[in-house]
Amino acid sequence: DLTQTRRPIRDLPDDLISQIAAGEVVERPASVVRELVDNALDAGATQVTLRLLAGGVRLILVEDDGLGIPREELSIALRRHATSKIASLQDLEAVGTMGFRGEALAAINSIADMSLLSRTGDSEHAWQLDGRTGELKPAARNRGTSVEVRELFYATPARRKFLKTDATELAHCIEAVRRHALVRPDVGFAIWHEGKLVEQWRACSAGSAQEAHDQRLADVLGSDFVTQSVIVNYESSARRADGLPALRVWGRAGIPDAARSRADQQFAYVNGRYVRDKVLTHAARSAYEDVLHGHRQPVYALYVEMDPARVDVNVHPTKIEVRFRDSREVHQAVRHGTENALATPRSSLPGHTNS
Ligand code: ADP
Ligand code: MG
Repeated sequence: DLTQTRRPIRDLPDDLISQIAAGEVVERPASVVRELVDNALDAGATQVTLRLLAGGVRLILVEDDGLGIPREELSIALRRHATSKIASLQDLEAVGTMGFRGEALAAINSIADMSLLSRTGDSEHAWQLDGRTGELKPAARNRGTSVEVRELFYATPARRKFLKTDATELAHCIEAVRRHALVRPDVGFAIWHEGKLVEQWRACSAGSAQEAHDQRLADVLGSDFVTQSVIVNYESSARRADGLPALRVWGRAGIPDAARSRADQQFAYVNGRYVRDKVLTHAARSAYEDVLHGHRQPVYALYVEMDPARVDVNVHPTKIEVRFRDSREVHQAVRHGTENALATPRSSLPGHTNS
């Protein structure tokens, strides 16, 4: 439109930059839950407790027993692009933590009322920072961190209107924790809603890693998931420099009879991170090509472990998508690993009973 007059280019105000960035990271309460639980796990928590009001819209409180944040770093934690997790390009290329972008707390703080309450191991008491006012005051707490997020999207009513019923938002929040729980049986999780305990998964430390995992899978997805599935355990023959297999795929794949009408029990992880990835989904589905017909959806929890330098996690702000350097290699490993497991006669598996 030639009649329009040109407007000068200007830097956006800081809070607007944060709000725009928040739009990418926070879609609904469950996005906040995912980020805060990521942070708790990165801090080495062994117990994570969630308290929600109104599906998380009115309150999301995440409490952990991790390493805590020292007083002098509390306000830095809320700054954009401030992180303790990476410091160089080299670190970025081999990320070992769930977070690394230093964006989540800043984003959440720009669209909700937030406070950080934390105590490190060597501090005499806790400190609480009010995200809005910046006020810092002494508080009481054991070692660890509590992040409180109130009135999500209070400043952006348009966004708030997109939210569904409390029940639906709660279901999404639970799903976000479930994804973490399925990969961390060593961590206990509890979810409270409106003062009622709605989910609790206790840390399982006893027995082998497989036993702990099976226990957690049964707790979270139901015991049928375990009894109606086979163990996947596949290692590529190629080795890394340190002698580890270049690719390892393990977990459980449901037998064809356990397939469902909806794809609601398909969990895939790369190096401990829940991902939704076309390569993995396709590889898993193709392993069922000959045994599952029509639109039936297999169930599985598959864990891919590989050299972090061969997978890029910095693809999407929410880190739910990844990019493999060699996606064919990953596809083959997941497909073969799952196919081999499904081809193993069930009667030869320990614990099988003829019914
Ligand atoms: P990122 O996780 O990408 O580093 P965040 O904005 O989520 O960015 O968090 C910023 C920083 O705050 C983290 O790097 C970490 O040092 C600190 N932090 C956040 N949550 C916790 C927590 N629950 N326990 C300990 N430290 C935390
Ligand atoms: Mg984070």
